[in-house]
Amino acid sequence: MSSLLIRNATAILTGLKGGEARHRGPDIRLRDGRIAAMGALAPEPGEAQLDATDCVIYPAWVNTHHHLFQSLLKGDPRGLDATLGPWLQATPWRLRPHMDEAMFRLAARIGLVELALSGCGTVADHNYHYWPGMPYDGSAVLFEEAQALGLRFVLCRGGGTLSRVALADLPPSLQPEPLDTYLADVERLASRWHDPAPDAMHRVVVAPTTPPHAMRPDELRETAAFARARGLRLHSHLSETVAYQDTVHDLHRMKPVQFCQSVDWLGPDVWFAHLVKLDPDEIALLGATGTGIAHCPQSNGRLGSGIAPVRQLEAAGAAVSIGVDGAASNEAADMLSETHAAWLLQRARAGDAAVARYRGGQGEAQAAAAATVEDVVRWGTAGGAQVLGLDAVGTLQPGQAADLAIYRLDDDPRYFGLHDPAIGPVASGGAAHLHALLVAGQPVVSQGRLPGIDLRDLGQQARREVRRLLASVG
Ligand SMILES: [Zn+2]
Repeated sequence: MSSLLIRNATAILTGLKGGEARHRGPDIRLRDGRIAAMGALAPEPGEAQLDATDCVIYPAWVNTHHHLFQSLLKGDPRGLDATLGPWLQATPWRLRPHMDEAMFRLAARIGLVELALSGCGTVADHNYHYWPGMPYDGSAVLFEEAQALGLRFVLCRGGGTLSRVALADLPPSLQPEPLDTYLADVERLASRWHDPAPDAMHRVVVAPTTPPHAMRPDELRETAAFARARGLRLHSHLSETVAYQDTVHDLHRMKPVQFCQSVDWLGPDVWFAHLVKLDPDEIALLGATGTGIAHCPQSNGRLGSGIAPVRQLEAAGAAVSIGVDGAASNEAADMLSETHAAWLLQRARAGDAAVARYRGGQGEAQAAAAATVEDVVRWGTAGGAQVLGLDAVGTLQPGQAADLAIYRLDDDPRYFGLHDPAIGPVASGGAAHLHALLVAGQPVVSQGRLPGIDLRDLGQQARREVRRLLASVG
């Protein structure tokens, strides 16, 4: 029986709500991959110990939306100042056809390392890098890379049967798949990788890339039924921009959320990335059905899409989680930057809507209550576990999986002078000073390092592969 006592933490945020959001600790005992006890604990004979003096402990982050292959597509000048549509054409659609297996694997590794070093223990990747006759198994590459680092991994199997461009104009690697091919691959992946356990290390999710563009309505309905018959969750992009609203209106004379309802794509087993542009009736419908959001504030900011109404969604009953989105529209795809942005932007959104009292408004009162650090930590941990259905993950309490991020506050002036150390990693922003990341009780990051990963070497490989990619594009 392996037991580890984490001792003397300065503060602990649990991922829970209200009065349970903080635990006095200062110690946490882990046993056999679970949290065995929290409180003032004495070491047991022969027990391993980890000193957390001057550290704060959060649940390991749960990232619910990513495109790991984009980790080699950061800061592309052609797409940097573009909005969503032109950016898709300039960067992912232009460069993705030229990525080979070696580039794909390296991109996945870079993204996963970046996440782990921010304290992220669970990654849901929305991978849509599939095409008919693809010469390698990209899904297996993603699972293997996550497994090598010791991270929990949820593959959201993207792709679709439709193309936004005439098929004759598409390179082979951007060609859509027939529905039976798509579903057969989901079946294959689920039988190999999907574990329904509440603390699963591997899951598979059915995730056509974006509902109105990826499949016909009857195919979306069939896909939802297929997923539900196998206990698989559903994920996609939705309502990222006003252009999205125009598309669904033009095609179906509906709002995007109503369209999803019409094809059985709402419910507690569904979560959507973005949900930036929503009408009040759409917020109410998402809430009433318990549908989830992967809030991606940095990507939404970078692409000039807007700021999602996260507090309104949560108040309506929707499940809120945080995703970093692909690194090609978010040059820092890590969970600490993302949650720092979520904290600031929800407050900025509320402030932006504030109206002076003499004009009939309520002054600044709303903005002050918009989002606390505890809210953001809850969204990024327990909220993520909720949308992924990983009920044993995302909170720090006895019996839960031992997934913990332990941050140092003693070696960076940005934390010096903090009256409330618990909020430091999120509120003070900047790079994580990760002392340790544990997933299922196993060390993923120790003393700020990933065993077996040489960051300088990884950076050299990235520069080499970016040069090779651009040479191939010509
Ligand atoms: Zn995305």
